[in-house]
Amino acid sequence: MDRDAYLERLGATTDEPADLFEHFEQRSFGGRTYHVLTDARHGLERGTVIVEDAETVIRGYPSIPRLLVLEPGIRSFFDDGATVAVEEKLDGFNVRIANVGEPLAFTRSGYVCPYTTARARKLLSLEAFFDEHPEKTLCAELIGPETPYTTTDYEGVDTHDFRVFGVRDRESGDPLSVADRRAICETYDFNQPRLFGRAPPDAAVETVRDAIDELDAAGREGVVMKSEAGDAMVKYTTEAQHHDELAYAFSLPFDHGRDFIFSRLLREAFQAAEFDEDGDRLQERAHDLGESILFPMVDAIRDVDDGETIGHRHTVRGDADSIDALFDHLRNQSMTIELESDRREDGQRIVEFVKVAESSRDRITHYLEGGTR
Ligand code: ATP
Repeated sequence: MDRDAYLERLGATTDEPADLFEHFEQRSFGGRTYHVLTDARHGLERGTVIVEDAETVIRGYPSIPRLLVLEPGIRSFFDDGATVAVEEKLDGFNVRIANVGEPLAFTRSGYVCPYTTARARKLLSLEAFFDEHPEKTLCAELIGPETPYTTTDYEGVDTHDFRVFGVRDRESGDPLSVADRRAICETYDFNQPRLFGRAPPDAAVETVRDAIDELDAAGREGVVMKSEAGDAMVKYTTEAQHHDELAYAFSLPFDHGRDFIFSRLLREAFQAAEFDEDGDRLQERAHDLGESILFPMVDAIRDVDDGETIGHRHTVRGDADSIDALFDHLRNQSMTIELESDRREDGQRIVEFVKVAESSRDRITHYLEGGTR
């Protein structure tokens, strides 16, 4: 690989190729080799990819900062005079789909996911899009109850689907504006997240508050606020999401880091303080929060005591080969997978499986057997 040439094309903030390339890892997919930046550094996002045989660079999807307080957060984050587009934030799995001779779906950390690649080729009109826009990457969320990564239900999505929330230049990472991206998605019939509205920063607070109330009542995740040019983004989430994520983490108490849990508690506290809640409302929030912590932990302890496998359960459907490739991919990432059922329906293979949570299983077993901390 001509490191100097790639260093320049990547626009990294170092002149020393070794500084950067020692953090690239070599991986392969379908006999092709690609190189992945494993951590954000030198101005480049984690998951930035170089596909050498296609002489292609695909920048990682940027990290989206989070507001804990809407007022004055929105005003401080966006420039005066900006127009803020308020879009729904969907709870799924981020992929970048790029054409490197064939369309491939890269995960946030830069792996090619064989399953998501196969599904994207089936569900999105990629050929038509890449014919016209070969240098772009589609940034999409894989959502629905049947995916290998998330299980959140969305009305109208019986199994899984994609929502395109960004179209970027693959090499520079520069996004299309919100309006252009929404228009392009319509042209190619790509579904996209709901747009709640556009407003200047002052007025956007109310748009966001209304959106959050509505999304919270529906048990949905939250919003991403974007400058119209698409280059500044910030997120904010609902109480329902905080509680769901806490329940998810506490259902496997020794597999999720303490930072994960503490950050969700902080989001709750700032939201409760800002939303001017009276005594009863705060009491109700505290009660729900407690339930999302204690119930899943007690369930996990009882499940282990009953000899059940604990872990995250998923269902996937698709052609047999892409499902085999998915399990190879997950096992290569050191996951222990247990298949619970494997059947065929309408020419598709449908597999239910568990990503076994070994740390939680082993620690809970230790305490149940009388072990000490
Ligand atoms: P980070 O904090 O680095 O962004 P994270 O994985 O913790 O990482 P999330 O809290 O899930 O990120 O929020 C960012 C993700 O939200 C994006 O990477 C994208 O996958 C997802 N997302 C869902 N809907 C949208 C949307 N409308 N616009 C942008 N991103 C969206």
